[in-house]
Amino acid sequence: NTLTSISSLALTVIIMNADLTVRRMMEVELRKAIANGDFRLHYQPQVDEFGALVGAEALIRWQHARMGNIPPAQFIPLAEETGLIVPIGNWVLRAACAQLALWQAQPETAHLTLSINVSASQFRQPDFVHTVSEIVTLSGADPRHIKLELTESMFVDNIAATAEKMSALTRIGIVWSLDDFGTGYSSLNVLHRVPLGQVKIDKSFVHDMSSNRTNIVVIEAIMDMARKLGFKVVAEGVETRKQMDLLREAGCHLFQGYFFSPPLEIRAFENYRRSALVS
Ligand code: C2E
Ligand code: CA
Ligand code: CA
Ligand code: CA
Repeated sequence: NTLTSISSLALTVIIMNADLTVRRMMEVELRKAIANGDFRLHYQPQVDEFGALVGAEALIRWQHARMGNIPPAQFIPLAEETGLIVPIGNWVLRAACAQLALWQAQPETAHLTLSINVSASQFRQPDFVHTVSEIVTLSGADPRHIKLELTESMFVDNIAATAEKMSALTRIGIVWSLDDFGTGYSSLNVLHRVPLGQVKIDKSFVHDMSSNRTNIVVIEAIMDMARKLGFKVVAEGVETRKQMDLLREAGCHLFQGYFFSPPLEIRAFENYRRSALVS
């Protein structure tokens, strides 16, 4: 018995170290990727209740020379822990604003909005507001078409300071969007103290909605709350016509998901936009 517990302890230590080694390797790779510029942005279309294209969400992609495409779920958490999310997040902001400026220079794309994900540690940087304003100004993009997506984890510490930081960017025209709404613990009391323009219903609710009709109650509660607080509502993870119809009936304003399109590289996004015009 002692022997088994020792060996299982030894095994645990080996696994933990292996895990640590993999993480160190990943961190080294991540640093190289930042230096080499191995990231790309993909753009997932967002449509209105008539299916018309109104904007996109920028989603980061890491194209690794040997390991291939590494999904954000596999490196964003590590980037947050190591602080590398700050240079990565700044790269995302610069690349997204550069694309938005290009759209704004063409009449056919000048109306599009671009949603950009901001991580909690990025937001917590003391110079966050300054960095964002500077990147936006240098890009020449109109900030009124920029939506920054944040998560409820940013509302855990000093809410007054958080609200003030958000307001500084609201004043230059940026819209704040609450991502993964419904998965956190934010109370009404918190939500009405921060300058949010919209909330995104998490895709887990959208999925449950079609498999289990009673979950529509959850969507309706979210819609009710959003109406009272004056938020626009975006539904993410829309995969079927049925889901789209139910969400539209419930009063959602914007829709995003595989039913319309997966995230696309820029050329494919432009093709999507053009073909959506014809049909
Ligand atoms: P998120 O912000 O909630 O983004 C939505 C995710 O759902 C994306 O995954 C998107 O590809 C996926 N998705 C879109 N439509 C559907 C659908 O119909 N069904 C399903 N099942 N999934 C759908 P992706 O691109 O792998 O990104 C995962 C997460 O990584 C994002 O979740 C976000 O939290 C993070 N992330 C991505 N890009 C960035 C970034 O530039 N900065 C930061 N900080 N985080 C990012
Ligand atoms: Ca998002
Ligand atoms: Ca989301
Ligand atoms: Ca998410």
